[in-house]
Amino acid sequence: MELNALQVYEILKGRGVEFLHHANSVQTTCSFLRSGRLMSRGSIISSGLGQTPQYSDEIDKKYGIWFDVFTDTVDIHHRASRRNIYGPVLLKIKLEILQVPYMPPLWISKKNPTKWVDGEPLANRWCSSIEELKNQFIKGEFDQMIVFRHIGGSLPIKEYVSDIILDEPNQEYYGLKFYDLAAGALFSSAGGSGMQITIHKRVCNYGCKCQIEYSSNPEAVIKYYFPYT
Ligand SMILES: [Zn+2]
Repeated sequence: MELNALQVYEILKGRGVEFLHHANSVQTTCSFLRSGRLMSRGSIISSGLGQTPQYSDEIDKKYGIWFDVFTDTVDIHHRASRRNIYGPVLLKIKLEILQVPYMPPLWISKKNPTKWVDGEPLANRWCSSIEELKNQFIKGEFDQMIVFRHIGGSLPIKEYVSDIILDEPNQEYYGLKFYDLAAGALFSSAGGSGMQITIHKRVCNYGCKCQIEYSSNPEAVIKYYFPYT
């Protein structure tokens, strides 16, 4: 439930969290960069912007989180040594965004909504208090997501995102390298809103499974790398 953003900031900072992370497709991230905002699934549609369908969309609608913005406290691809199922682009958002004066209360999930069960108490899904967060927060626990539910579905990130990590799938489409296609689209979109970004080609851990995942699933590469549908 509702947690004071500054208190959340202090706890996360104290546990070594420097950035909030948001992974998504190239097309959806281009929509973020063009508007200078991280947006909820529902808000992108309401704004007439493009986004890549996600397997969790129906769950988000069912549980009333379609207009919420979800972030992770770690880089899941790096931590799990596999591709992030939400997409190959990772936005690193400076944790200091939680200190802006307009920041409303935050919610922190205790388990991913894909694991929620109908009828269960809210306390099973959401952290109930700052005390509970202090006791239970673990950096790198994927289920504990920082969720913006009181921002009208849109979080201004222009001043807080400079570094973007992009996976290299090592695949081409009729001579077009997917990585170059994606990087160009991201730069162009950021330029539209005046965002200054640096794109870093992802350096994987030894044994990371992403290359096998990309090469065995070319449909996913097309889905997540094309900046248009
Ligand atoms: Zn990898």
